[in-house]
Amino acid sequence: ITNEMKLIFDSRSENESFARVTVAAFLAQLNPTFEEVADVKTALSEAVTNAILHGYEEEVHNITIHCTIREQEITIEVRDEGRGIEDIEKAMEPLYTTRPEWERAGMGFAFMEAFMDHLEVESTVGCGTLVRMKK
Ligand code: ATP
Ligand code: MG
Repeated sequence: ITNEMKLIFDSRSENESFARVTVAAFLAQLNPTFEEVADVKTALSEAVTNAILHGYEEEVHNITIHCTIREQEITIEVRDEGRGIEDIEKAMEPLYTTRPEWERAGMGFAFMEAFMDHLEVESTVGCGTLVRMKK
């Protein structure tokens, strides 16, 4: 049995909590523990924040979230069509940030990796970024 949903919204910071709550509501059908919900919310919020801040910078464009539930596992894809990432391996290193002047800690990918069971990043400079996570 599979169940899926897609969410498309503007890359505005006020939509970050909307996305977080919506994905948590979709996840509820798996009867997750409180901790599992908190982990997914944290990871999702990091991915959406990255799409807003780094993907689109000041501009407002679409962010797409695609969630699929298969058996007891949720797959969450967060996609932007923004700037893209030049060196994905480097970007995923803990404490690496291209925006120290914005006081970013460079910990977003490290949190996604820590809180989810699986993390995959695909990106093309000038085309956008796809973050795929599983729990
Ligand atoms: P923090 O998440 O701790 O506030 P950060 O966002 O810089 O800091 P990460 O989330 O780990 O740290 O991301 C590392 C780097 O990867 C970013 O500084 C940015 O250069 C790049 N990056 C991440 N997501 C995207 C994206 N969606 N589009 C373009 N670049 C991205
Ligand atoms: Mg980040």
